[in-house]
Amino acid sequence: MHMPERIYFDHAATTPLDPRVVEAMLPYLTENWGNPSSIYAEAQEARRGLDGARKTMADLLGCRPQDLIFTSCATESDNLALRGAAYANRKRGNHIVTTAIEHHAVLHTAERLEQEGFRVTYLPVDSEGFIDIEELEQAVTPETTVVSIMHINNEVGTIEPIAEAARAVKARNPHTVFHTDAVQAVGTLDVNVDALGVDLLTIGAHKFYGPKGVGALYVRPRTPLQPQQLGGSQEKERRAGTENVVGIVGMATAMRLAYEEFDSRNRLYRHLHDRLIAELPEAVPYTQITGPRDPAKRVSHIYSCCLGYVEGEAVLLGLDLAGIAASSGSACTSGSLEPSHVLTAMGLPLEMARGSLRLSLGWDNGEADIDRLLEVLPQVVSRLRSLSPTWPERSGAASP
Ligand code: PLP
Repeated sequence: MHMPERIYFDHAATTPLDPRVVEAMLPYLTENWGNPSSIYAEAQEARRGLDGARKTMADLLGCRPQDLIFTSCATESDNLALRGAAYANRKRGNHIVTTAIEHHAVLHTAERLEQEGFRVTYLPVDSEGFIDIEELEQAVTPETTVVSIMHINNEVGTIEPIAEAARAVKARNPHTVFHTDAVQAVGTLDVNVDALGVDLLTIGAHKFYGPKGVGALYVRPRTPLQPQQLGGSQEKERRAGTENVVGIVGMATAMRLAYEEFDSRNRLYRHLHDRLIAELPEAVPYTQITGPRDPAKRVSHIYSCCLGYVEGEAVLLGLDLAGIAASSGSACTSGSLEPSHVLTAMGLPLEMARGSLRLSLGWDNGEADIDRLLEVLPQVVSRLRSLSPTWPERSGAASP
């Protein structure tokens, strides 16, 4: 039996390893296995790999190598940023500002800090997922020690005005530490820490064709940060634990390739995204595109929409059976039937939010993948709608 090739549309959840990244990692799995903190010859190759990776990433981000802390994932970086800055600044105040649409790595950390006695303001967003700078300014007080606003929303692709937000926060309170979760931005945009004006910035390698289980946190010099993981004196005593040298070498290689290639990658994503915007709502009636309408204000590798009169999870299962991998939002919320906190914060009615679909593109996607999706999705959706008691065309009722 001929099995059609599978099509992967979930690159915002994770990407496959770039073969060039695997190539760069291999020597650190085989010959260069020493502990980078040791002083003998075997360790020196590992140390060189670690130092080289730190320099590569620092040059790309526009910072000094010593301003980067390597971590085990973006979630750890987010936890370290929020908890580390909140506790290190506790004598100045106990107020934190974040947004209602952050990844759970930030939201659940903020909720835990609330339980520990901090006060947290969750900024609302508009119907396209943008924060309002005036609302941010009003939220920041002399007591505010940390502001955390994501660079790109992982569900709808909204690019938040981070440089403007950081400027506004610093003007209100120069002591406030500004963190951005740039997990979906690094590898897609030309992220530079000075252009953004941020103090802390989170990176996760597996979103840009690097390995899983490795991330980084940029820390601007003199930013107060209390270590959250204690032990050895690695990472200048800001994050204990022997570094994952092979993962870090892979992350730096993937990041260098992403910076070298993001013009060509983004050209492809933009073209495929434009097709989805133009053709998907035509192919599937009662589709509402979510996220910013202005292409300059959203990333092109994330397309998101809500399909009326269906459950997103049922659509995903139908697509999977037809060989297509997609998501209903963030990977962490799929598997639960709760509508996405991002879509509800953007004001989508619950019935629409339940039908969310996210297609996130990678360089391995092409025209034929979009053609196949546009052939399969209408069939999956109309089968599900025909079973739905609320489907208006079932009883011949008028369109909403
Ligand atoms: N932040 C954002 C915006 C993300 O999209 C993700 C992953 O989806 C994370 C943080 C967490 O990344 P990880 O699970 O690799 O720690």
